[in-house]
Amino acid sequence: MSIMLSKEDQALYEKALNYGKNVLYPAGLDLEKSSELTRKMFLDMAKNGFCGLGIPKEMGGKGYNYLKSALIYEGLAYGDGMMSFIMQLHNNISMEIATFYEGISEEIKAIVPGLADGTKTTAFALTESVSGCDPSATSSYAELRDDGYHIFGKKDWIANGKDADYYNVMVKDGKDSKNMIMLLVDKGTQGLKFLENRERLIGNGISCGSLEFDNCIVPRDRLLSNNGFKEALIAIDVARVFTPAIAVGIAQRAIDITAEYLSSRVSFGNPIIKNQGVQWELADLSAKIEAARWLVYRTASVMDSGEPVASIAAKNKYFGTEVAMETTVKCAQLFGSEGFMKDSRISKLLYVAKMLQIVDGTTEIQKIVIGRDISRKFLKK
Ligand SMILES: Cc1cc2nc3c(=O)[nH]c(=O)nc-3n(C[C@H](O)[C@H](O)[C@H](O)COP(=O)(O)OP(=O)(O)OC[C@H]3O[C@@H](n4cnc5c(N)ncnc54)[C@H](O)[C@@H]3O)c2cc1C
Repeated sequence: MSIMLSKEDQALYEKALNYGKNVLYPAGLDLEKSSELTRKMFLDMAKNGFCGLGIPKEMGGKGYNYLKSALIYEGLAYGDGMMSFIMQLHNNISMEIATFYEGISEEIKAIVPGLADGTKTTAFALTESVSGCDPSATSSYAELRDDGYHIFGKKDWIANGKDADYYNVMVKDGKDSKNMIMLLVDKGTQGLKFLENRERLIGNGISCGSLEFDNCIVPRDRLLSNNGFKEALIAIDVARVFTPAIAVGIAQRAIDITAEYLSSRVSFGNPIIKNQGVQWELADLSAKIEAARWLVYRTASVMDSGEPVASIAAKNKYFGTEVAMETTVKCAQLFGSEGFMKDSRISKLLYVAKMLQIVDGTTEIQKIVIGRDISRKFLKK
């Protein structure tokens, strides 16, 4: 068994890395201010081959496996963590629509090429004000009537919520039901409203806020799955392969800009990086990033093999995002007062790391999954 990347995989990583360095990074600070620029950059990423990664070729996608996709997100994130994040979010939802749900209608299949080339975008609507970490507490519901599903309720914190063309929405199958279903809702459907755009620490070029469903009617053939809860958990496992890849990309960028800064910044007559204490800090963080990187590759490979992934995906999400958080906090310290600037490169990386610890299951939720997996094995005895 080889644990080296193939030449093809390495080449894909380098392609994404170069794009990240040469296109995303220079635009980085402006992206924050402009949703138009963010959209333009998204389309440019699509044009350069970073959209539709997991969608089969015959459906208009790239047909990449999880490992290839993870390598691409890591490379893109080295240029801009938020652009990598929004692309992987869209790619995940698109791949799931294209390949995960059995018996989807021809009409739904027909939207896949537009998702694969990025001309149409998606959002994933699971979270509610009453159900963040605990999706089983979902209160939104749909009623099946003669003319289709009537959806009622409110979703919260939906990334790309204002701009998506299609929403993958999890609701209860009836007001008093415990079962959840997954529905595809088109932008502009009557009864669907984007309520507010929340200003966040980072990623404000991407909309994020609440969606209201007030008797929003979608045809029966927009049902993606009758088993919405299970499908939502599977979708989250997919994200737990990729968000740590983004975490590794931003952590590596943090190390590199810090080392560069400390090589030119002089204190007591010497470049600060010459201090052994500083080098040891960078060494410590670099070793952890390398470990996180290979955990991402391992998790992606397990996903590709079809083996159960929940536990290793939780470890991956927990460890990769923790390493990114620790790295960016410590690197911000090494920048001194420059690291305290709201719009500095290092503080922006720190904000992305914090976001990655919250989305797709918080750090605490990952520990719950890992801890349960350990205890289950021994409690059986
Ligand atoms: C930028 C951003 C984008 C997002 N995009 C989307 C999106 O596109 N679609 C979507 O559906 N959601 C999205 N979310 C929502 C995100 O998934 C939730 O915020 C996340 O699941 C946490 O939920 P919460 O904020 O309600 O935390 P809460 O559930 O209120 O938890 C609060 C704190 O308590 C901890 N906690 C909770 N339960 C336990 C426990 N049993 N044991 C120990 N600790 C616990 C949590 O880890 C957390 O630290 C997004 C969030 C952000 C910040």
